[in-house]
Amino acid sequence: MLKTRFTEAFGVEYPIAQGGMQWVGKAHLVAAVANAGALGFVTALTQPTPEDLAKEIQRTKDLTDKPFGVNLTILPTITPPPYAEYRRAIIEGGIKVVETAGYKPQEHIDDFKAHGIKVIHKCTAVRHAMSAERMGADAISIDGFECAGHPGEDDIPGLILIPAAANKIKVPMLASGGFGDGRGLVAALALGADGINMGTRFCVTQEAQIPDSFKQQMVENDERATDLIFRTMHNTARVMKNKVSQEVVQIERKGGAEFKDIQHLVAGARGRAAMENGDTQDGIWSAGMVQGLINDVPTVKELVDRIVAEAEEIIEQRLQSMISRYAEAAE
Ligand code: NAD
Repeated sequence: MLKTRFTEAFGVEYPIAQGGMQWVGKAHLVAAVANAGALGFVTALTQPTPEDLAKEIQRTKDLTDKPFGVNLTILPTITPPPYAEYRRAIIEGGIKVVETAGYKPQEHIDDFKAHGIKVIHKCTAVRHAMSAERMGADAISIDGFECAGHPGEDDIPGLILIPAAANKIKVPMLASGGFGDGRGLVAALALGADGINMGTRFCVTQEAQIPDSFKQQMVENDERATDLIFRTMHNTARVMKNKVSQEVVQIERKGGAEFKDIQHLVAGARGRAAMENGDTQDGIWSAGMVQGLINDVPTVKELVDRIVAEAEEIIEQRLQSMISRYAEAAE
């Protein structure tokens, strides 16, 4: 048993979370994560309307009686979503924990806290983590440069970002970005985090409702198979390297690109259509460097059990055997 401040605060068995993932964070996966003893989040904006989110929350409840949460991401969008209505669906759905991510979470944190909901704020800089803590966040998820999706603009990898955040943050903290196995979990705990958040790794599980072609592509890809897009627009996103991401990179490289020059390539709707067709090359797909550590498509339970068992073995055997007094005691 790996007991941490995170497992205690959020009432889950293992210090592992499955954070928000556009088009992937749906009932089937989230319930599987909850049933495996980790903390899953339904992605609010994957649902086209707040009413659809309410239904997805209910669908998840029908599949698990364990705790799960909802992710609400506040980043630039082509059509700004009605955030207050999404918040109502979350509150009225009886959700007890929300993962916020992105800009200026204050009004969202205030509303959730006023309704007794715990908030984990995911961010990519120590200063943003400190400010979210001041705003009342119950936990921080600190997201290193390795991550899929939006790593911010500071380019600080987890090896530095996690302990730098741990030096300043008092509430429980998840480490995010680049995690996919027990070695990563032990490293995160050693760096001062209370658990890990994984996205890409949970995409490559049997319960993730995405086509097998996407899962196989991520298994085949190595750690170099990502591109950074929107760099020139201060909305950097790390995505799986493919024909479309390369085209966006080329357009941005020329200089002077505006969002309208790439909108037809990057629109979430195009990415979703590509996903529905199983075509890994025809839209933007968020994926992290951790692809280089993903070699199979297990069930969620197999994955979570394996990570925890590997972490326990590393702590109890590999690390302990390096301390001479334990080695001497064993002789
Ligand atoms: P969308 O179709 O509205 O936009 C597609 C992409 O373009 C998104 O990454 C968005 O951030 C970016 N974008 C939109 N307007 C922009 C602008 N004016 N300047 C620069 N970039 C701009 O979004 P979607 O795919 O439907 O996603 C909905 C929400 O979920 C967005 O907030 C998006 O950022 C977020 N998201 C997050 C991740 C992640 O991994 N963290 C992945 C996908 C989407």
